[in-house]
Amino acid sequence: MSHKIIENINLIEKDIRLKNEKVNIIAVSKTFSIENIKPLIDHGHIHFGENKVQEAMQKWSDIKKISNNLKLHMIGKLQTNKVKYVIELFDYIHSVDNYKLAKKISEEEKKKGKKLKHFIQVNIGMEEQKNGIDIDNLNDFYHHCNQELNLNVIGLMCIPPQSVSVKDFFLKMTQLNKSLGLNELSMGMSSDYMTAIECGSTFVRIGSKIFGERIK
Ligand SMILES: *Cc1c(COP(=O)(O)O)cnc(C)c1O
Repeated sequence: MSHKIIENINLIEKDIRLKNEKVNIIAVSKTFSIENIKPLIDHGHIHFGENKVQEAMQKWSDIKKISNNLKLHMIGKLQTNKVKYVIELFDYIHSVDNYKLAKKISEEEKKKGKKLKHFIQVNIGMEEQKNGIDIDNLNDFYHHCNQELNLNVIGLMCIPPQSVSVKDFFLKMTQLNKSLGLNELSMGMSSDYMTAIECGSTFVRIGSKIFGERIK
């Protein structure tokens, strides 16, 4: 199992480096136990992604204290009552997508004297049931986060609809990012990370292609 994981990440890494030297690979380790993840940490991998706060705390609290070069990314839907834990444990939040959440993050950051790096999640496919801020509200929301709340927003994030035109969504994201003067882009998963990189992604979030299919 562990050999396979290292093999997987090495292949992905090789493919990506041919295209772009600087793309960050977030190994999305949700549902996998720390025993499964450990070989990748020992291998020197730095960026890891989780989508559930409770699960992340159980898995990462201890190991993050001893390995302080590790970077933990919150990539899932975030409830305001969990924000205080996230500020303590995580380094990045990819799912800032509403005013109430942004305000809470700002308050907890002040309280703890700590600033995370943030992505604003955009509902790029304008899907009814999807998380993310609507494109029409993005400009106001970004400036509110940046100026009123003093959040360190480094870029935009999306989970586009799985469709043939995923590239069009990625290109639209690049355009929006540029229009706000932002430099980082969180987009691309196991099925489409090379396309995302071609379109300018700087953080790809890869789960199953590294760890195998998730059971849960
Ligand atoms: C699970 C998840 C991923 C990784 O998905 P894979 O298809 O397994 O690579 C990426 N981003 C988010 C937001 C996720 O929840």
